[in-house]
Amino acid sequence: MDWNTIDKKWQKKWSETNDHETDYNDKEKKFITVAYPYPNSPQHIGHGRTYTITDVHSRYLRMKGFNVLFPMGFHYTGTPILGMAKRVEANDTELIEGFKTLYKVPEDRIKEFAEPVKIADYFHEEIKSGMIEMGYSIDWRREFTTIDPAYQKFIEWQFRNLKEKNLIVQGSHPVGWCPKDQNPVSQHDTLGDVEPDFTEYVIIKFDLNGVKIPVATLRPETLFGVTNIWINPQVTYQKIKVNDEIWIASPECARKLEFLEKKIEVIEDVSGSDFVGQSVKAPHNDDSIVILPASFVKSDNGTGIVMSVPAHAPFDYQALLDCKSGKNKSITSDLLKNIQNIEPIIMIKTEGLGDIPAKDIVERMGISDQDDPKLEEATKEIYSKEFYEGILANNTKQFAGKKISEAKDEIKEWITEIESADILLELTNTPVKCRCGAECVVKLLSNQWFLDYSNKDWKNKAHTCFEKMNIFPNEIRPEFDQVLDWLRERACARQHGLGTKVPWDKEWLVESLADSVIYMAFYIISKYVNKKEIDGNELTDEFFDYVFYGKNDPAEIANKIKITKEKLEEIRKEFLYFYPVDARHSGRDLVPNHLTFFVLNHVALFPEENWPQEIVVNGSVLMRGKKMSKSMGNIIPLREAVRKYGADPIRLTILISAELLQDADFNVEAINGIKNKLESMYEDCNKIKAEEISELEPEDKWILSMLQNLASNVSESMDKIRLREALHHILYDFDSELQWYLKRTKSKQRTNISGILHKIFSNRILMLSPFAPHIAEEIWEKLGNTELASKSAWPSSVGIEFDPTSIRQMEI
Ligand SMILES: [Zn+2]
Repeated sequence: MDWNTIDKKWQKKWSETNDHETDYNDKEKKFITVAYPYPNSPQHIGHGRTYTITDVHSRYLRMKGFNVLFPMGFHYTGTPILGMAKRVEANDTELIEGFKTLYKVPEDRIKEFAEPVKIADYFHEEIKSGMIEMGYSIDWRREFTTIDPAYQKFIEWQFRNLKEKNLIVQGSHPVGWCPKDQNPVSQHDTLGDVEPDFTEYVIIKFDLNGVKIPVATLRPETLFGVTNIWINPQVTYQKIKVNDEIWIASPECARKLEFLEKKIEVIEDVSGSDFVGQSVKAPHNDDSIVILPASFVKSDNGTGIVMSVPAHAPFDYQALLDCKSGKNKSITSDLLKNIQNIEPIIMIKTEGLGDIPAKDIVERMGISDQDDPKLEEATKEIYSKEFYEGILANNTKQFAGKKISEAKDEIKEWITEIESADILLELTNTPVKCRCGAECVVKLLSNQWFLDYSNKDWKNKAHTCFEKMNIFPNEIRPEFDQVLDWLRERACARQHGLGTKVPWDKEWLVESLADSVIYMAFYIISKYVNKKEIDGNELTDEFFDYVFYGKNDPAEIANKIKITKEKLEEIRKEFLYFYPVDARHSGRDLVPNHLTFFVLNHVALFPEENWPQEIVVNGSVLMRGKKMSKSMGNIIPLREAVRKYGADPIRLTILISAELLQDADFNVEAINGIKNKLESMYEDCNKIKAEEISELEPEDKWILSMLQNLASNVSESMDKIRLREALHHILYDFDSELQWYLKRTKSKQRTNISGILHKIFSNRILMLSPFAPHIAEEIWEKLGNTELASKSAWPSSVGIEFDPTSIRQMEI
């Protein structure tokens, strides 16, 4: 079967009849959107999944009778394209070779790639062609890029609006940072799309004759249980001047502190072993505490020095055992004698954790030395149990009797007051690498523009929106609540890249996860810009206020931007018609950022009736069970795959192997299986003619009742966006029934079943149409229909009364 010819034939037909172009009308609408692509490479099979799900969803709703708008834009904003352009300019052979061999970019085009916009434009066209070739039912009249003048006016309006509401603030806050680019980084800027989250450590400073020995901890409350300090004798530390104090810390720590706005001066290198056996003074009680050697202490973690709380920290308990038993060879015989009386100090009581929690768990897990990987797990287990259920014991003085979860912040405050604490921020999941290759750090950015996502009222409003929203699959709902709770101020400006200038501070550009949160509203306006009915350069804040809020006098605004009052009112009417967004589709990786920001910004900028209605999240696509990546060399460009296998077999293969949140698997056997199935359906349909259905025999009533069953099941799956399930019903579930029916009618030597078969196949093909639109149209035509399958009504009912007796009879 020539799949490409069939693809082209129907794509041409859809485009000629403007089938996917949607304006407002009297029908009920559905506004279906999906995260727009960042055009810095061609799309591969993996990208195809989210867009295909969105397209199936749109096509299904269209057949259900809704007026469906499915638009597309292109996100040019950000730094990765800029980085690529710089590498092309520097004649980076690895990148250029990649463009040539992997992406098949013609050489004369690559030459232009030193200019960032040329890269974006090239892949923009490439991605768009791929979307058309996949048969996506997009209204292309609304296409835009985020560097179009009209879009920039829109983003300026958004930013001024947020600032007026005090939701954009200036301040000093920590951000993920690329030291090479001198730019904040977000998920889009990192290798492997890692979100640069950070961990906050409390530094507690112990005193060694005036020199500070800082330890970094996630559990400052355990200061009351400290018995000694750990240092790694193999590590070369540094004596540094931190503002006005002298500290001992690892070189990595010194570097981190510098990015956190501390003035750092390195005095000299010192060996960790020099400190073993020395005594420091604890900040809270002047007790003398010995420094002991431990190999589990890592120099790139915290300060490279930690306090030891053997009653509650399994690492500490085990390391202390290793010291006291003489197993740790860095200990002299004198010291060995002196430390025999160090015993764990219990300072938290938790039901079910035993007298000495760390001892209990170390023994239970059979841990025998401090480099045992099981210690991580043991630590996590105690940490969370003590955090939620632990009560502080009497030796914690003023905090005794309190829960850890309640007292944690108070204790932090108290240590700060006795001037012995500091904060150290570190990237979680290190190393996080920028796309330029440099290792990212946490930087305290001062006098920068931040979206105030820590604002409680704002968070609450977003929680309300999430509560009312459909989320598919619903199991992912708690993740959104968690993200909202931990979100804090987020830098929303960048120094370099493509995009819109911050309207009141033209040195800065609006960051890419800040200019991509309410653009669904812009799809209404972009149609009029593209038709040249409004001039993007003329758009004003008053224009947007009118279109989105109905504020101000339309005649006056229309006059100012040189359009008629009627045209302006038409735009407003169209906005009111299509908004709110009925479904937002995206991959799972956008849950902690884009999807949450999308809701936050909508609740900030739009009245409640225009808040988003639904979010649909999908997992990724694996290639033969493995993650797809350039380095694995297992990426198949989408357009290449379409040419090789046809659009519909690809669409079905990426949908049939997994429900929404699971990872789908793509492999050649699966795609061949799908192709064979579709081809055999095509052959079957070729043989049957539409004939009048005569009086129904019992087996006719039975098979049509089964067909009604099928239609109900498929519709139910579709409404829950359980596409894998729906596809299985359509493609495979009916085969055995059909076999049985054919056998039965053959034994009765009936010749009048063509009409029944025609009805069965017609309904199955209509159900298949959102999934495999090209082959469905082809078969639909073969079945003798003149109207398009995609324009036919969804067969919720097959027009036959469901007959339970016929099913019972047949079962007998
Ligand atoms: Zn960088």
